[in-house]
Formats: sequence, structure tokens, C-alpha cells
Amino acid sequence: MALTDPDLLFAPETRSLARALHASVKDLPIVSPHGHTDPRWYALNEPFPDPAQLLIVPDHYIFRMLFSQGVRLEELGVPTLADPTFDCAPVETDGRTIWRRFAEHYYLFRGTPTRLWLDHVFEHLFGIGEPLNANTADAHYDTIATLLQREDYRPRALFERFNIEVIATTEGALDDLKWHRAIRDSGWNGRVVTAYRPDAVVDPDFEGFSANLDRLGEITGCDTGTWAGYLDAHRKRRAYFKEFGATSSDHGHPTAETANLSDAAAGELFNRIRRGSDDERERRLFRAQMLTEMAKMSRDDGLVMQIHPGSWRNHSPSIFQKFGRDKGFDIPTRTDYVTALKPLLDCVGLERDLTIILFTLDETSYARELAPLAGVYPALKLGPAWWFHDSPEGMRRFREMTTETAGFYNTVGFNDDTRAFPSIPARHDVARRVDCAFLARLVAEHRLREEEAHELARELAYTLAKKAYRL
Ligand SMILES: [Zn+2]
Repeated sequence: MALTDPDLLFAPETRSLARALHASVKDLPIVSPHGHTDPRWYALNEPFPDPAQLLIVPDHYIFRMLFSQGVRLEELGVPTLADPTFDCAPVETDGRTIWRRFAEHYYLFRGTPTRLWLDHVFEHLFGIGEPLNANTADAHYDTIATLLQREDYRPRALFERFNIEVIATTEGALDDLKWHRAIRDSGWNGRVVTAYRPDAVVDPDFEGFSANLDRLGEITGCDTGTWAGYLDAHRKRRAYFKEFGATSSDHGHPTAETANLSDAAAGELFNRIRRGSDDERERRLFRAQMLTEMAKMSRDDGLVMQIHPGSWRNHSPSIFQKFGRDKGFDIPTRTDYVTALKPLLDCVGLERDLTIILFTLDETSYARELAPLAGVYPALKLGPAWWFHDSPEGMRRFREMTTETAGFYNTVGFNDDTRAFPSIPARHDVARRVDCAFLARLVAEHRLREEEAHELARELAYTLAKKAYRL
């Protein structure tokens, strides 16, 4: 029995061409220019832990769904923060128990991308042909647990089997990059690069912001008590990240708001923020100014800038206090780009050697704002459908709403943006299938010649990501 069909995501009318396009790109190497896998895995190359710790516990796509249906996070092994004042249930540590609980609820994922990814992983990585449910839970668990002990299921072997040409991880500005150093020193030739993510030292609302700035000063030897020293510290960290292969920076801001203050005004704002301003408007303005500062640094040092706005992080304060960040309670909000990005674009938008990749969680902005912006400003490109929209429907809507104005060449191919290492081939395969199906439709409607569709299928699966991210 097979869990996945060779014609997955291909509509009947255009199936044969979609199939032919997919056949020509399905074995291309994976370029993964943005994601959140742990560099420690590739550095130490230890066996992955049990199936639950690998596939369930770290995956907020999975536990948020079960939580929404009444399963407690503790029952899924999600660790609580060590504060005894909270009323927490004991955290489940037995992998098999967590797995059974997950299997009983696997039907909840019908129609979701998580189901596509996991079935792909079960079949293609672990050779499983039976659907997962309460009855097959133990058999699946045993099969996966046994394989995970094998040499050819260790991180580096899987990296090679997945045909990953290059993968980027994401590290905070204060990270010492020791795992990246270990990978480099190990002599292994898998290409793992980092990306510069400075949220903790540019967002005054980030936990420990003031101490983070002190630490930034210690690491760089710059005086982060002054605006000039603080900017220099960023320049030094960016250069350090580039030594470990970074070609991009990444910025997760609540909004896309940017500012373009004079140096003197920015310096004064920094002084107020450094003293701990409790004025919400000032803290917002500082974040906005820092996006423009980062864009100017990108113009100078060539790092591709990614902006990931529009997520209301940690929407539930109780979950945040009990479990911390990234626990499924990040919720999309409406995002304005046309007004918000104008100060940044006035400053650097016409630069031809600068690349700023915009992402959105607000699909209403695609046709109205993002495609028109990226369709004219040389510095702008559109990132692929992201997070809540990293789904067949989301990817289709992305092409439908942006191609008319921005074409294909103002987009940057696919990135998996994932922490879930085993799902990387599945995610790229879904993206390649959706793009092939879209191209097949354009050919069927006589809007594209077949040879153009073949050329584009390759660009979307491989070349555009490499080019846009300078990899
Ligand atoms: Zn990301």
C-alpha cells in the first residue's frame, strides 16, 4: 500500500504535462536558503532521538492542532518552564505514550499540509505503507525507532540522501556559532551556512533587551552605550556571520514599519531606548529605524535582507508564561507594506545590488501591495508562501495573486522555513508539484509554451533560490 500518489496535487485536466514537468525537476538538489534546523545535529552527527522527540515535540504545527482539540501540551511532551508557581500537569517523557496520543488524533490533520508532509516522511523515509492511526501507532513507532539507530539515518547521512546542496540555519546576533565552527572544522563537506537574526538586539520589547545590548558590546568590543558603537557592533557581527557562510539576514518584526531618521535623531532615540524608554511609540520607531539601518548595512556588505512581519507572537500570555516562545500561539495580523516600507524604500529601494525579500502572513497584501512593490523596486523580491500559507492552496494563491504584476522573476523560489529536518524533502516536493501544476495550467490555456514551462519549472525549483540568496 502507498501513502502518497505519484499524481499528488495534479488536477485531471493538466495532469500529463504537470507530471512531465515534475519528472524533470523532482531530482534537482534541494537549496534551502531559510530555515531553523539545529546546526548541532550536523556538527555532532549523533542519532536522532526517539520518534516522538524527533517528529512531534518540536513541531508547533502538530501540537497546536491537538491543543485546539483539548489535548494538553504537557501530554505531548512539550516542556514547561521551570517555575514551580504555575499549575502544570507533569510533562510526558515517554516517547511511545506521546506517539500513541498523536496517532489517535492523526485524523485531525486531514486536508492539511502537515498530513501531506508526514505521510511523505513515513513512506519515503521510513518505508511505511499503512496509514497512521491508533491501531498502527506501535508498529510505526517501532519501525521508525529502529531505523533512527542506524548509521544511514544520522543527520549527515540524511542530509546527503535528501540531496541538499546547501541549507541555511538561523542564529541570533549573540550566538557564538560554535556548531557552525565545528561543522567547518570537521572536514565534512555538507554545506551548512548561518543567517544573521538580530531581533534580540534590535527590538526593545524582546526579553532581556538591555542585557542583550551589554552582551553585544562585550562580544564585539564596541561601545553599545552609543549609537555609533551599537551600529559598529552590528557590522562586526554581520562580518562574523559571513565567515560562517551567511549570505542573508532575517528580521521578524511585528509590522513592516520602517523609518528614515537623520543620524542625529536616530542617535537621540537610541539614547532614550538605551535608558529603557517606556514609551511604546518610541520603541516602535526604534524597530522601524533599525530595519532601515539593516538595509543600509546590506547595501554595504551584500547580505540579502529578509523581512518576516505580521505575526502577533505569543498571543496567549498563559501559554507564554508556562511554556515560552514558539508554542503555536503566533497569530497572523493584517499587515500594511505600501506605507510602512516607504521610508526604507526612499532610502535604498532603487539600489540594484541590494536584495530585500518580503514575506507576508496577510495574503490580502499580495495583489494589492506586495506584487506591485516588487514589480517595480529593483531592491525588492517576494518570498514564497510562508508559515500558515505554506500549503498547496497557499502556494497556488501566491502564484495567482503575484504573477500578473511581479512575474516569476521577482520571486525567489521555495524555502522550507522548517525546524523539522525529516520533512524537508516532502516540503520541497509539495512546492515543486504546485508550481508544476500552475505552469501546466498556463500551457493548457496557451499562455506559455511548453519549453518555457520546463525552463520555469527548473528556475522555481532550484535556480531562483540560489540566485536570490547568492548561494
Ligand atoms: Zn523562519
